[in-house]
Amino acid sequence: MSENIIYGIMSAMPEEIDGVISLIHNPQHKSIAGRTYTSGTINHKNVVVVFSRWGKVAAASTTTTLIDYFKVDKIVFTGIAGAIHDDLNVGDIVVADSCVFHDLDIRPLNERFVVPIINKKFFELNVSESWYLKLVNTFHANNINQIIDENWITVFNLRTVQVVRRSIATGDQFVNSEKMKDDLRINLPVVACVEMEGAAVAQICFEYNIPCSIVRTISDSANNTAAMDFMPFAKYVASSYSVAIVTALLSD
Ligand code: SAH
Repeated sequence: MSENIIYGIMSAMPEEIDGVISLIHNPQHKSIAGRTYTSGTINHKNVVVVFSRWGKVAAASTTTTLIDYFKVDKIVFTGIAGAIHDDLNVGDIVVADSCVFHDLDIRPLNERFVVPIINKKFFELNVSESWYLKLVNTFHANNINQIIDENWITVFNLRTVQVVRRSIATGDQFVNSEKMKDDLRINLPVVACVEMEGAAVAQICFEYNIPCSIVRTISDSANNTAAMDFMPFAKYVASSYSVAIVTALLSD
């Protein structure tokens, strides 16, 4: 991979992105449509880092600006998500190998979840083996205390973090009930977790033919305590996760 490429790094939480912005050498700020884009370098790699805001439209608009205005070559989204299956715990990491819009339904005009014109249900994403292994190593039980404070490792039970490559579902909905989860499990059985931006980023990148990575840390179980559960995780741990994920990506 050429060293001159520009990475667009997005997050759906100011807490996360602030940690990444603090890594930027010689930061330059530019405001467009209410977002602040910060350019500079991290580990001698060119980056543009931005808080996208929540939801599909916000994510799509921010992705388009990164590509059209800042000419980024690759996009990385880091954020939190709700687990749909019981084998994923708070603190586990899902690297998307595909993304789907779980709230897209134009039946009877088209099959449920299929994006019109593009005619795709899943946006497949290439997960580089070397980057995946860097993440596995960064979050390995022997290394986790180098990135997360020992106290939070205990509070959130982060001793054995799983890093998995699975499908992510996106929609303009905060999923917080067993009924909503059941609907997802039945109709999109390959989906591991749910969030509000990933597939929008993946669709824009697909249309521009730009590679993208969507990395999600499980903050809640998308059940009736999700709204309470995700906040402390977002506040105390997500920033360290995001910094570790971006650092792993941009390491040599
Ligand atoms: N922090 C905001 C709300 C964020 S909405 C506030 O307090 O007002 C939740 C964010 O976390 C979204 O960006 C979404 O991508 C992700 N997320 C985490 N858990 C989720 C869940 N159970 N359902 C949907 N999105 C979830």
